[in-house]
Amino acid sequence: MVVIVDTISNPLRPRHPEKVNRPDSASPPKPNWIRVRAPNTRGYADTRNIVRANGLHTVCEEAGCPNIGECWDKKHATFMIMGDTCTRACAFCNVKTGLPNALDAAEPEHVAEATAKLGLAHVVVTSVDRDDLADGGAEHFAQTIRAIRAACPSTTIEILTPDFLRKDGALEVVAAAKPDVFNHNLETVPSRYLTVRPGARYFHSIRLLQRVKEIDPTIFTKSGIMVGLGEERHEVQQVMDDLRSADVDFLTIGQYLQPTRKHHAVMRYVPPDEFSSYEKVAYTKGFLMVSASPLTRSSHHAGEDFARLKAARAAQAR
Ligand code: SF4
Repeated sequence: MVVIVDTISNPLRPRHPEKVNRPDSASPPKPNWIRVRAPNTRGYADTRNIVRANGLHTVCEEAGCPNIGECWDKKHATFMIMGDTCTRACAFCNVKTGLPNALDAAEPEHVAEATAKLGLAHVVVTSVDRDDLADGGAEHFAQTIRAIRAACPSTTIEILTPDFLRKDGALEVVAAAKPDVFNHNLETVPSRYLTVRPGARYFHSIRLLQRVKEIDPTIFTKSGIMVGLGEERHEVQQVMDDLRSADVDFLTIGQYLQPTRKHHAVMRYVPPDEFSSYEKVAYTKGFLMVSASPLTRSSHHAGEDFARLKAARAAQAR
């Protein structure tokens, strides 16, 4: 018998093959406080052209972020490195899943070039999960940080990394490249992990954030969760305490939105006043910065937030 491997990519391949046979799950209609700007401005088009010209992927597009019209108009794009295909299959995420291609060795330079062309004072770089790589992509992250530093010395760098689960030494490689902000999202409360983020482990993620501070206390640490996934209020408060125990500086809380009917349903749209209440509680627990609103995303207003973060640390030191 001959096995023929068809190496031509199949345009009919579903974006999330693991979800195809799941039953549809319906979310309630969006409330009027979830309103976004249409992506049709000149700034948006310029940003898209620069992203395309450098052959890059962005989480803004791949995750279907609701803020893309606003952010790209201001030339704020969040680069997603190591390809467009993720080796995990989280129930909330719209990034394509499957077996990724080999790493593009020129990508760090291309990210640096795009950062310069966009004139970014603060750049955010994230990635897909690369469980297929021995180091989870840690060295590629470090190379990207170094390439941006070389091309744009005054640009501050924020990274949003995967958890590098079972990749010993990976975190240390990334931290040694000295990003200004190290973000790793918890995504949800521990009781929802098995359904929302089954490939990850809550306490591993907490420990990862704690390790970053142990390795280099000057690096700001940041983490975020989505609400509306069936969590209880007391669980969100427990997450705040766990993050403060790991010395995390910055917390983001945003509303989960369902990318397709095959993804986890929105269990509830949390009203804006509840986000304000979370923000107040989080500040009392000692975070330097908190952003909590329906459309809060890790990288939304990241540049302005970084300036406020630095100011808050300086004020604390006085
Ligand atoms: S919030 Fe982040 S992911 Fe969304 S469009 Fe803005 S920069 Fe991109």
